[in-house]
Amino acid sequence: MNTLSPRDAAALDEFMAEVKHRNPGETEFHQAVQEVAAHIIPFIQAKPVYKDARIIERLVEPDRIVIFRVTWQSDDGRIHVNRGYRVQHSNAIGPYKGGLRFHPSVTLAILKFLAFEQTFKNSLTGLPMGGGKGGSDFDPKGKSETEVMRFCQSFMSELYRHLGPYTDVPAGDIGVGAREVSYLFGQYKRIANQFTGVLTGKGLAFGGSEIRVEATGYGCVYMMEDMLKHRGQAIDGKTCLVSGSGNVAQYTVEKLIHLGARPVTLSDSAGFIFDPGGIDQERLQWVKELKEVRRGRIKEYAREFGVEYYEGQRPWAIPCDLAFPCATQNEITGEEAKHLVNNGCIGISEGANMPSEQEAIDTFQAARLMFAPSKAANAGGVAVSGLEMTQNSMRLSWSRDELNTHLREVMRDIHNRCVQYGAEGDDHYVNYLKGANLAGFVKVADAMVSYGVM
Ligand code: NDP
Repeated sequence: MNTLSPRDAAALDEFMAEVKHRNPGETEFHQAVQEVAAHIIPFIQAKPVYKDARIIERLVEPDRIVIFRVTWQSDDGRIHVNRGYRVQHSNAIGPYKGGLRFHPSVTLAILKFLAFEQTFKNSLTGLPMGGGKGGSDFDPKGKSETEVMRFCQSFMSELYRHLGPYTDVPAGDIGVGAREVSYLFGQYKRIANQFTGVLTGKGLAFGGSEIRVEATGYGCVYMMEDMLKHRGQAIDGKTCLVSGSGNVAQYTVEKLIHLGARPVTLSDSAGFIFDPGGIDQERLQWVKELKEVRRGRIKEYAREFGVEYYEGQRPWAIPCDLAFPCATQNEITGEEAKHLVNNGCIGISEGANMPSEQEAIDTFQAARLMFAPSKAANAGGVAVSGLEMTQNSMRLSWSRDELNTHLREVMRDIHNRCVQYGAEGDDHYVNYLKGANLAGFVKVADAMVSYGVM
C-alpha cells in the first residue's frame, strides 16, 4: 500500500482533478496516471528541479496525437471505415517507440494510458527509446488473409508519414503479430521507398531480431526469477497461473517450463483452461499452432487434452504459487486478487499492460506479495525491439544466444533499479511499483529539465 502524508494526498487529489478535467471520460488514462503520480508527487516535493519545471504536468500531455480514417474493402466488396491512432507521448530520451494494437476495444483513452506507461517502461530498460502507442478499433479475428492485408496497407498509407527510424518506430501488440507487422512494413517500404528499421518485430528475413517473439514472455519470467532470488527462493516446482494465450502468454509458459515451474492455465476472452498436470512443451506447441496458424479458441485445448474449460471465467480462483496475467488491462479485480492471496499466491509478474486494477494492487501490496508491475515485468519485449533497432542501424544480426544474454541482463538491471528506488522498511520489502515508477521517471525528467522550457 502506498500511504501518503496529508500534504501529498492533497497534492495528488488536486493534480488528478485537473487530469480528469482535461481528459474527461478517459478512465484507463486516469488510472495509469494516478498509479504513477502517487509515487512521483511525494518524490518531487523535496526536488524543486522537477517540481518547479512542472515535469509531471508536462508528462500527462502527449507530445502529439494523430487520429485518422482507415477505409478498406472486405472480400465481398463492402467498404468499411475504422479509426487509426498514434499517440506520440514523449521523445525526451529517444524516438517514439511502442506497439500498435488492433482490437475492437481500442479507444483513445486506452492508447493514451499505454503510451504514458510506455515512456516510463522504455526509460527503465536503459535504452534510448521514447514512448508511444497506436492502433485501431479494427478486429483481425474472423477476417481473411487478404482483408487483414488490405486493412494493414490502408492503415500504413496514412501512418507512414509520421514514422521514421529517428522519429517513431512502432511494433506489435494485441492483434498485431508477425503477419500484421509484415504487411505494415511492406507497405511502409513501398510508399517511403526506404528499407529502414521503422518497425520492430519484423520477420528474420527482413531485418527482424532473434528472441523478439519470445522476449516479453521470457522477460516476465526472468523478472519473477529475480524477485524470488532476492527473497532467497527459486522458481522451479512452483505452480503458475497464466492468462491469455497470445504471444506473451505462450512465451511466459515456455520459459516457465524451461525453468522447471508448472504452468497450469491459459485463457482467451471467452474463458480459461485448467490443466492440473501442467502444460508441457508438446501441449504448448499445439497452442502455438492453434493460435498462430489455425487462429482457433483456447477451449479447443480442453477438448484435445481432456481437461476442464471454464466458460466466461478467469483463472484467478485456482490455487497457485505465482500468477502471470498476460492477456489485457484490468483483468484482475480486487476480489480476484483476494482469491489469489487467500489461495497461497506469493508473486505476480504482469506480462500484460496494467492487468491489475488499483484495488488488486492494494491487496497484493497489503499482503506483501512480490508484485512486479507491467512497466518493469514486460519491458523485455521493447528492450529486444531496441536491440532490433541497434542491429538495423549497424546492418548486422546478433545470434540468439547473444540476444538472450542481453535480455537477461536488461531484466536483471530493471530488477536492480526497482530495488534501488523501491526498497522499504526494515524487512527490505521491495515496492516494485514505486521502484519502477521512480526509476523510469528520473531519466526522462532529467532529459526534460536539460532541454529547458518546451
Ligand atoms: P495477442 O494478441 O497475441 O494475445 C492477446 C491475448 O489476450 C489473447 O489470448 C486474447 O484473447 C486475450 N485478450 C485480448 N483482449 C482481451 C480482453 N478484452 N479480455 C480477455 N482476454 C483478452 O497479444 P499479446 O500477447 O502481444 O499482448 C498481451 C498483453 O501483453 C497486452 O496487454 C499487451 O499490451 C502486452 N504486451 C505485449 C508485448 C508484446 O511484445 N507482444 C510487449 C509488452 C506488453 P482473444 O483472442 O479472445 O482476444
